Amino acid sequence: MERLFQIAIDGPAAAGKSTVAKIAAKKLGFIYIDTGAMYRSLTYKALKTGTDLLSGEALKALLDETEISLCHREDGQRVLVDGEDVTEQIRYPDVSSQVSLVSSYKEVRREMVRRQRILAGKRNVVMDGRDIGTHVLPNAQVKIFLKASVNERASRRFREEEQKGRHPSLESLKRAIALRDQKDTERKVSPLVKADDAVELDTTSLTVDGVVERILSIVKERRSR
Ligand code: C5P
Repeated sequence: MERLFQIAIDGPAAAGKSTVAKIAAKKLGFIYIDTGAMYRSLTYKALKTGTDLLSGEALKALLDETEISLCHREDGQRVLVDGEDVTEQIRYPDVSSQVSLVSSYKEVRREMVRRQRILAGKRNVVMDGRDIGTHVLPNAQVKIFLKASVNERASRRFREEEQKGRHPSLESLKRAIALRDQKDTERKVSPLVKADDAVELDTTSLTVDGVVERILSIVKERRSR
């Protein structure tokens, strides 16, 4: 049986990972798995149930009784927690500001990684996150590390928020992104770091199409080996 093809896309917050991962997956006919959405889902449920965010064990116990589903539909990916559609809610600022804490516990990460590997074992995938190339899929045929300046990432987030009718200040977005990067990079378990064999792409001055094209050409080259 032919080995499944795996594309790992890692990088800091708001570097454009999910945007390019979704397009690349669609063009290749692969499924897209947003691992950040899984950590966000647990954070959402923990906030809703009043679970102690300072206890990795309590969060792991909560995760054990939580079903997180990533549904692929024509109009995009929907995220369900125990059957409830939380696609929008998991992007709210209260979740964004706590997700790095929730994702820092080894018990939580071990279970998430177990689930992520099961998902990646079924079909060819594009998976994005922070530890995909280094830990979740260390044998992925293609590993990409996307980065962009904090200013550029905050401006992109700002434009997205405006389109949704929300008006955060650019400064507050910059602070939130920088803080999340710091927590994700400095945590003890599977911190955000570029895998040695990942291709680094700085997207600061690249268009979305430009980044997707680079990724597809790397995929083409690896597939022809
Ligand atoms: O990708 P996104 O920004 O939605 O991820 C939200 C958070 O989930 C990250 O800031 C990080 O704390 C955590 N995360 C992680 N490992 C992953 C994906 C996300 O720790 N593979």
